[in-house]
Amino acid sequence: MLGGRSKRAGDGRRLTVGGVKLPQVVIVGAGFGGITAAKALGGAPLDVTIVDQHNFHTFSPLLYQVATAGLASDDIAPSVRGIVQPDPNVEARMATVHAIDFERREVQVDNGPSIPYDWLVLAAGAVSSDFGIPGVSEHAIPLKTMADATRIRSRVLRRFEAANANPALVDQGALTFVVAGGGPTGVELCGALAELIEKVLAKDFKHLDVNRAQVVLVEMTDVLLGTFSPRSQAEALRDLRQRGVDVRLGVAIQAVEMSAVHLADNTTIPTTTTIWTAGVKANPMADWLGLEQTERGEIVVLPDLTVPGRPEVFVIGDLAAAKDRHGKPLPQLAPVAMQGGRHVARSIKRRERGQSTRPFRYINKGTMATIGRRAAVAELPFRIRFGGTLGWLSWLGLHLVFLIGFRNRVVVLVNWAWNYVKWDRGNRVILTDDTD
Ligand SMILES: Cc1cc2nc3c(=O)[nH]c(=O)nc-3n(C[C@H](O)[C@H](O)[C@H](O)COP(=O)(O)OP(=O)(O)OC[C@H]3O[C@@H](n4cnc5c(N)ncnc54)[C@H](O)[C@@H]3O)c2cc1C
Repeated sequence: MLGGRSKRAGDGRRLTVGGVKLPQVVIVGAGFGGITAAKALGGAPLDVTIVDQHNFHTFSPLLYQVATAGLASDDIAPSVRGIVQPDPNVEARMATVHAIDFERREVQVDNGPSIPYDWLVLAAGAVSSDFGIPGVSEHAIPLKTMADATRIRSRVLRRFEAANANPALVDQGALTFVVAGGGPTGVELCGALAELIEKVLAKDFKHLDVNRAQVVLVEMTDVLLGTFSPRSQAEALRDLRQRGVDVRLGVAIQAVEMSAVHLADNTTIPTTTTIWTAGVKANPMADWLGLEQTERGEIVVLPDLTVPGRPEVFVIGDLAAAKDRHGKPLPQLAPVAMQGGRHVARSIKRRERGQSTRPFRYINKGTMATIGRRAAVAELPFRIRFGGTLGWLSWLGLHLVFLIGFRNRVVVLVNWAWNYVKWDRGNRVILTDDTD
């Protein structure tokens, strides 16, 4: 174990113990996979650098609450330096990785010299995918990053301000919010938007006919929450409709324009706010690294999560085409990334001890989605299923447990309690200068 004897040598970056340089591990990405790997390597006789383009970790399962004013961005975005501060051998770097020289074993960043590595962990996640549908990238807002969430919040609030100033805009769709994609993110966002409008904005905007506001969820398949059981799917549909969400199933979005969305059934929805949750693809890093990719763009990995022919390079999380023991691709979920992070940390330590690596085995502990106040579905192994209030309480508890940092947990808990008791959403601030 690494103790107080370790220190950073010469250039201030290399860690040494007793004058000997430690093997260097570079982790690209401080998301669920990268942070878990870094923490699992804390205290090991390794010199670890975790690089991210942001100085914070994004707890993406709660992004929709930032987008709907229930939480502030800081509440779900602990600083990366703060997370690794207790680990003397782990250093955080804020930088964008733009190339990797696999022969020289160096990671090239935008704001300083290359970072050499002995072991490399690629954990750069995924980005939103528009599937080539016209107008999506220009006119729809994805919900993938913190910037997206604050932009959605500002856009929704700005539309209410605009309609309040000029009610004629309501006929042009100013208060119509179209959400594309009926997966967990789309369902959670629609439920929260509907509650924000009905319970909070209706009181904020005293002279506006807020009843004319609409949340429309468009899903191209015939069900919501495609990976859940039919019972949970039906429950989600019922709960969303009860909250006034206009759910349109079995219809695809054909094009998005500045002031309308066109559907495949030849209907047009006038709107100036389309939110895209319909799909993600692996980080484009997978393209420029020149490594073998799947059709979905993820990097092909061996069962131990290393890149074929490069045993010193690991790929985890949404960027990796990892499979289960039956050869089925693993889903792009936080627990897959976290378990992958722990696995590669163990593998690096094993290899440093001269032992071989083991295959990665993902243990599915269940999935959840919340629809709104006292409405959620939770599906656990052995066909255990909760809905309604019990599902909602499990959802709340689990998300609190997985949030990183005691302060964040306390702040989120206090916010949730306040929002529950007061029917409030305290973060109704327009922060972006987005004037569209
Ligand atoms: C809105 C939303 C809700 C979700 N809800 C759930 C949920 O409820 N449950 C669940 O299990 N999963 C959920 N997911 C999926 C889950 O967030 C991902 O599966 C998980 O984040 C993948 O972890 P990762 O480490 O692979 O990537 P990420 O957590 O996305 O982290 C990637 C990191 O890499 C950094 N990065 C990218 N490119 C570069 C670069 N060139 N240079 C430097 N840094 C870079 C990024 O800034 C980011 O911090 C949700 C996702 C979204 C978008």
